[in-house]
Amino acid sequence: MDNNFDVAIIGGGISGSAAFYVLSQYTDINKVVLLEKCDKLASISSHSTANSQTIHDGSIETNYTAQKARKVKVAADKVKNYALNKGLQNKVIFKMQKIAIGVGDKECEFMTKRHNEFSNIFEGITFFNKEEVKRIEPKIIESLDGGDRSENVVASGYEESWCGMSFEALSENFAQEAMKANPNNQVKTNFKVMSIKQNEDGSYKIISKNKRIINAKFILVNAGSYSLPLAQKCGYGKDLGCLPVAGSFYFVNGEFLRGKVYGVQNPKLPFAALHGDPDISLNGATRFGPTAIVMPKLERSEHLFGNLSSELLIIDFKLGTLKVGFDLLKDSEIRSYAFRNILFELPFIGKRLFLQDARKIIPSLSLDDLTYARGYGEVRPQVIDMTLRKLELGEKKITTNKGITFNMTPSPGATSCLQNAEIDTLEIVKYLNKNFDIDRFYNDLGMSRS
Ligand SMILES: Cc1cc2nc3c(=O)[nH]c(=O)nc-3n(C[C@H](O)[C@H](O)[C@H](O)COP(=O)(O)OP(=O)(O)OC[C@H]3O[C@@H](n4cnc5c(N)ncnc54)[C@H](O)[C@@H]3O)c2cc1C
Repeated sequence: MDNNFDVAIIGGGISGSAAFYVLSQYTDINKVVLLEKCDKLASISSHSTANSQTIHDGSIETNYTAQKARKVKVAADKVKNYALNKGLQNKVIFKMQKIAIGVGDKECEFMTKRHNEFSNIFEGITFFNKEEVKRIEPKIIESLDGGDRSENVVASGYEESWCGMSFEALSENFAQEAMKANPNNQVKTNFKVMSIKQNEDGSYKIISKNKRIINAKFILVNAGSYSLPLAQKCGYGKDLGCLPVAGSFYFVNGEFLRGKVYGVQNPKLPFAALHGDPDISLNGATRFGPTAIVMPKLERSEHLFGNLSSELLIIDFKLGTLKVGFDLLKDSEIRSYAFRNILFELPFIGKRLFLQDARKIIPSLSLDDLTYARGYGEVRPQVIDMTLRKLELGEKKITTNKGITFNMTPSPGATSCLQNAEIDTLEIVKYLNKNFDIDRFYNDLGMSRS
């Protein structure tokens, strides 16, 4: 078999699959290969059990500023329009209510102000007072004794929105469409990339764990948590570190919520506030989470503390990384948040503590309603910039201008998959002297290029 390709994409999660689709459908590149170490695509962060299954467009994510919301909305519209235009309703994309709530006077004031500001960005976004919240999401208002909770509650959001997404099913769809668009393409699973070497002509040789070899003129590394170790093995990204923050979930038996309910973010905390929503792949289960616990591993395994990552030690065994960690922990609120999140993982006490937080959304929850979602959640590979000594909360790209690019895509990386694929495609066609029909890309999405 001919193992020479124009482009090799390492990593078959949502980012790699989206790039595979855009390169195959909208460029004149001849042969693209998607390489994945697992036996199925989207088995790590893009799996339905791993993430919160949300198209983050910024309307209810109270940790986003208006400026960030404007930006993520464009990316979110791309995946939403793709799924709707392809007729993937109720297979890939799901419709439900979604709101962000403020509880108590301070949060209600914040939500009211935020709603007024964000209604300029989000057409049709609605404000709900306590009575209206009771109508659309009764469990938020019902107190433990069956009456109404005492604090004021307001909300901002939508009674109907295509906001739930199986990024796992979308990855599979992208790969199928890419194969349909160009039968020269290939998907190789069980292909764990161990080393990348540059050939004399500037192309690359990729060698797998079981000694399979692929040659490619351009490599796009979308290997999730493993993008940085692969970059550093190739001599790039030495000024970056990684803070792996695992997120876990709890299940509530029964349909407690009709849609997504997000809370107000504490601006000091680097990760999104706890939220609750119906699980799109499990009928009748409500999920709460994710938690945020720092742990020394790049991908989560069945056992929380199993599979510690030796690659991480190589990346992070530097003073700069430790310094960022210590700086974060100097703040007492972050310290107690970090400690509480560790306790959430412990048997007996974890569930009791989590219940206190979840009751902010559903006050009538009881201990028996909650079950730790074993095997759910994943690691967010947050990047640390060691030169600036700071934690980068979004995505990070290492561009080399030598025919190899590395992407690190923590949340909302799944929502931004087509946006990132577009950016990468522009870079790849320029490098290979090929063409990208970007107007057709936008036309098919029903969007204009701004
Ligand atoms: C708890 C949690 C909740 C989240 N919720 C949301 C959400 O609601 N909405 C949202 O937009 N985002 C969410 N995110 C973020 C989102 O899940 C990620 O941004 C996204 O899945 C990243 O996709 P990816 O393809 O870049 O990485 P991954 O899905 O991790 O894919 C990387 C792939 O590379 C493969 N790979 C790794 N190393 C190698 C190698 N050496 N050789 C070959 N293959 C390799 C892996 O097996 C994997 O399949 C959440 C993340 C977490 C952890």
